Formats: sequence, structure tokens, C-alpha cells
Amino acid sequence: MKRIISSIALLVLAGVLFPANAEITFRALEHRDTVRSPKYYFLGATEPGNTVTIDGEAAKVYKTGAFGKEYKLVPGNNVIKVNISDGSQTVEKEVNVFFKADGRMPERKYSIEEAKRKIDFEEFKERSFYVETLPNACLQYGTGSDRLGGSKMGWLNPGITLKVTGEIQDLFKVQLSENRFAYIAKEYVKPTPKVTRTVNSNNMSVFNNGKSDRISISFPERLPYVSWTQLDPTIINVDVYGAMNNSNWLIHRRDLGMIDYVDVQQPESDVFRIVIKLKEKYAWGYAINYQGNTLNIDIKHSPEEISLKGMVIGLDAGHGGNPGAISPTGIREADVNLSIVKNIKEMLEAKGAKVVLSRTDEYSIDMSSRRKIFLDNDIDLLVSIHNNAGGSPLVPMGTSTYYKYIQNRELAACLLDRMIELDVPNYGLTGNFNFALGTPTEYPNALVECLFMSSLPDEEKLADSAYLKKIAQKVVLGLEDYLKKVKKARQGK
Ligand SMILES: [Zn+2]
Repeated sequence: MKRIISSIALLVLAGVLFPANAEITFRALEHRDTVRSPKYYFLGATEPGNTVTIDGEAAKVYKTGAFGKEYKLVPGNNVIKVNISDGSQTVEKEVNVFFKADGRMPERKYSIEEAKRKIDFEEFKERSFYVETLPNACLQYGTGSDRLGGSKMGWLNPGITLKVTGEIQDLFKVQLSENRFAYIAKEYVKPTPKVTRTVNSNNMSVFNNGKSDRISISFPERLPYVSWTQLDPTIINVDVYGAMNNSNWLIHRRDLGMIDYVDVQQPESDVFRIVIKLKEKYAWGYAINYQGNTLNIDIKHSPEEISLKGMVIGLDAGHGGNPGAISPTGIREADVNLSIVKNIKEMLEAKGAKVVLSRTDEYSIDMSSRRKIFLDNDIDLLVSIHNNAGGSPLVPMGTSTYYKYIQNRELAACLLDRMIELDVPNYGLTGNFNFALGTPTEYPNALVECLFMSSLPDEEKLADSAYLKKIAQKVVLGLEDYLKKVKKARQGK
């Protein structure tokens, strides 16, 4: 009896020490049964710590449990043999991939609705009537529509009359001046009995308005405008369409904070240009708004103290509601973005900055609402946080930063220089990036695509909360570098 009990005890003890029958699991990730290209990435996942061979070759198992191998498939069925071991037992799995090597993609079948849309797109219809802009109207250069929308020229205030000359899908083509056309989404305009005509500009003044310098010009009606910045020296240009220069007085007050001088030009008979030369190399943003029929261009002053202390920093965690990119083992980009943003927020607040978030939890919020939060809170700078997808899942893909307007290039560059200190590949600095949150001119802004959700080595890092803190530290250092540059440039002026 005694002997039996001790035997049982030994067996129980052995079970605790050697849990030999813990189950080994295997999941094929992003697997497709039939493919049409010979290049195939086989990805799988098991418990982290297991060892894996694929077709007899050892494969790296990431801390997420993911592993993979690149294949050049042969036509017909391909069998991938996976052996997984936890040290005491081994399981063997087979995965089949059929490579359909008929050389052609299957012909795309259009539904009647799709076919109709396709024809509509090819058929531009001429139109002639007038519309008035509604809130959130944005001019775009052309009809292009990549996933980020047509390339944006700039936002317009409501109440501006535009002449429609044609329509194509959900866009109107509008005539800004004799030679300048643009496109605008139909949903952001409404028909109006008003018409446009070329008018004279009226009084103009330039004065210190407290937190900004203001250029005020009145017109008989609200006219469309487009602005852009040139560097070295820093000049902000605003073209007002349908106006002739009749502003015969241009008084400059001597107490301006940011503006060196303002000039007016008439590059075309119906285009009135306001040229604003800044005193400082780095602008802090500008806003263009109508008050009645008076166009106010507000050029933000530099903060007195250029440091994070006291500054209002906007942080945007990409996605929410929608997951964004999903990593091979199922991590949602929206969650990773929010974790990084929360880390940055904590670090910035510790340095005395005030932080404004576009999203504080897992919920959906559209781009206009995000933009409104940042404008309403009068932020000084914005950083958007995303993570990328694409390329090979088997190699580190790295980090990249993005800006739309040239005045934001330096901020994006400072962020990238710090991010690559994480010893990840430099995926590049991208300009003219048509991201919705890159389009406001009211504050410097940049987007960081920290790493790639789709890459197994990058995913392993993004799955590690300590690593997300490291990313946040680099973003904070990048912001500080930018502020140092701005400060230095101001002292040297
Ligand atoms: Zn994203």
C-alpha cells in the first residue's frame, strides 16, 4: 500500500516537473490554398520556444511564435513539411499550396454596377452652374484617387462660390480663375443662385494680433484661395482667385512677431497673390479664414520659450474601430499605435508639455473629427503614429516618416533620424504624402510609420511592450531635436 502511494506520488511529481504532454499547436498564417505566383511566403505559428524545421531546414521561431519561409513554387501541388518540437515530442504537419501556373490572371468579371461606374469614370460630363462650399471642403488637383484620396490643394472655408464646369464620378471640376481648375467632392458643396465674377480687392492691413500676425484683406464676396510655402527664405504665398489688386495701401505695423514683410502681386489678370516673407526660418503654422468677406491670414508667432515645457503637442494614434494592418499572428495596428501614443504622452507630460490626443481608447473616429480636435485645441505640433504593412514578411522592413508640405520636412527628418537609432532599416523620408492629417497648415506635423506589422521580425518587436516604450522615447527625442534646430535658427537670425 505504502509502496503504491509513493509510486503515485512519484508519478504526480514527474508530471509536474515534466509536463511532457503539453500540446504543440500549429497554425498556418495568411495561408492560401491556390496561388497564381510562384513566389510564396509560407508563414506559421506555434508556442514560442518550440523549435521548427520547414522541409528539413531549421526556421527561426520569433517570440510571437511565428516562423516562415520563402518558396519558389513548382506548378501544381506543393507540399510543405513542418516539424515542430518542444524538446520532448515532435509533431509533423503538412501544408498544401497549389500553384496554378496558367500564366494569366483570371479575367476580371465586372458586375453591371461596376461596369457602369467604369464607364462613368471614363465619361467626363460638361456642366455649367455654381455651387457654394460647405464645412470641410477641400480642393484637389486632379481626379486621382489612391487610397488616401486625390492629391489635396488645400481646405476652403464655407460660403465660397465656385463655378462648376464638369463632373466626374463624385467630383465636380471647378474653375478658380481663367486658367486654373481644381476638383472638389460633391458632398462638400451645394448649388447656389450666386455667380462668380472678377472683383477688386479692398483695404488691406498687417498687424500683430497677439498670438499671431494678421493680414486682413476685404473683398466684395468670399473668393477661393490656395496657399503654399517656399523655403530659404521662408515665404508663405496665398493666391486669391477672381480678384484684381486694388489694395492701394499696405500698412505694416512695426511690432510684427513673425512677418518680415508682405508684398502683393498679380501673376494673372484674375489671380491676386499675397507674398509673406517670415523673419524666422521655421514657421509655426498659419490659418486662412474668412470673417464676413474679409480674408484673414494668421501667421502664428514662435513660442517665447522653444522647449517642450508648456507646449501643446497633438498625438494621433492611427485607426481605431478599424484595426489598420493586422500582423501575421493577429496583432492589431490600432492597438499598437495607441500603446505607443500613450507612452509618448506620458514622456511628454513628464517634460512639462500638454498633450492632446485624437483618440484615447479603442473606438472609431474619422479624419475630420481628428483634425477638428487638434484645431480646437490650438496645438503647436502634431505627430501621427502608424505602423506599416507590405514587403517581405521574413526580413526586417524598418521605419519611415512622412510629410505633405515642404515646411514639415525638417520635423519628419528629425523624427526619422532618431527612429533609425533603433537599429532598424531606414525605409525612408517621404514628402508630398497625401495623408489627411498632414494637410492642415495650422501647425507643423509629421507621420511616423514606426515599423511593419506584416514583417515577422518587426512584429516581434511590436509585440513587446518594452520596445514600444523605446519607440516612444525616439519620437520624443526627435521632437526635441526639431525644437533645438528651431531655437538655434531663431538665435542665429
Ligand atoms: Zn496605419
